[in-house]
Amino acid sequence: MKVESKTDLTNKLTFHVPATTRFYVEVATDDDVREALLWARNKGLEILILGGGSNMLFHSDFEGLVINIVSTGMAIEMDDGRFVEVVAEAGEVWHKFVLQTLENGWGGLENLSLIPGCVGASPMQNIGAYGVEIKDVFSWLEAINVENGELKRFNIEECKLGYRESVFKRELKGKWVIVRVAFHLDRESELKTSYGAIESELSEIPTDLRTHKDVSNAVIKIRNSKLPNPDELGNAGSFFKNPVIIESDFKIIQKNHSDIPFYPQEDGKVKLAAGWLIDQAGWKGHDRITHAVHDKQALVLVNKGGATGNEIWTLALDVMRSVEKRFGLQLEVEVNQIGIKS
Ligand SMILES: Cc1cc2nc3c(=O)[nH]c(=O)nc-3n(C[C@H](O)[C@H](O)[C@H](O)COP(=O)(O)OP(=O)(O)OC[C@H]3O[C@@H](n4cnc5c(N)ncnc54)[C@H](O)[C@@H]3O)c2cc1C
Repeated sequence: MKVESKTDLTNKLTFHVPATTRFYVEVATDDDVREALLWARNKGLEILILGGGSNMLFHSDFEGLVINIVSTGMAIEMDDGRFVEVVAEAGEVWHKFVLQTLENGWGGLENLSLIPGCVGASPMQNIGAYGVEIKDVFSWLEAINVENGELKRFNIEECKLGYRESVFKRELKGKWVIVRVAFHLDRESELKTSYGAIESELSEIPTDLRTHKDVSNAVIKIRNSKLPNPDELGNAGSFFKNPVIIESDFKIIQKNHSDIPFYPQEDGKVKLAAGWLIDQAGWKGHDRITHAVHDKQALVLVNKGGATGNEIWTLALDVMRSVEKRFGLQLEVEVNQIGIKS
């Protein structure tokens, strides 16, 4: 295990804000993870687990040990000719893993194509896109206890996967390092094409000839046309979550904003589009020279070059205050804030 000192993290974070860590280590096996945890504990240091750095905003330099998970590999646990259970190591690049499953003819992850980051972070916020969340295909994950190095298998109930949520963002925050994740995939799974522009992207292909790979290609095309590429414009995807509110609160908002888009949920609540709320509050394309609210997707805050985490956070707070003033709704932040001063 090679621990580096004073490592620059800027290019390991898709927001590309300036940030360093006092100590940095890359870990490729379960034993490496345990060794790194012990090393930090013996020195009394805080730890931070880093995957692809695509869902983090650093407010200041990190004074502890950043543990970057770089384990790779994929294994088949079960294959009955139709269904397959596949396990991927936490450091696998998510999109590469998705493409591998599709090359094998396994359906289930196609709508989640092109989401940045690594497999290990995917259950953290139950990543989702185009009508699918990983909870739809999740089997189990294995994680190492930060305190005692124990390896534990968590089933889907224990993970409490919800809309951009899991137990690892709440009660168990900072307590476990996810080392591998298993998914149950299906060679004959139904294609989910009703969300967004997928159906129109596929219109040239007759329904009975469409494949999981076709859906993936459509999703990739749509995402490339809508979302800024972090290599060109620093960002962490959606900065805010879509609010999910009770129906009576929704009715009050709808009274004053009859054109508000809304999505009734199974539990009777109503999901609103945060991007629409931000746009209506006048923030879409709002530009502060080094950083901005993206001009095509108001949910995304971007670092145009030279912005600090604090500057981006100030913009986020301004957007939140403004949306609250206009709609009486408090937006919730989706991106993990690191080193935030309370
Ligand atoms: C352009 C763009 C588009 C995006 N689109 C989507 C989208 O459609 N849907 C969506 O859900 N998300 C989206 N995201 C957000 C992000 O890609 C996902 O949340 C992704 O899963 C984060 O993975 P990561 O490896 O980069 O995590 P990181 O940013 O490295 O880490 C995120 C959090 O998870 C923790 N963590 C990471 N790995 C582990 C581990 N192995 N064990 C324990 N804790 C860990 C970190 O400490 C941190 O708190 C997008 C981001 C970008 C930049």
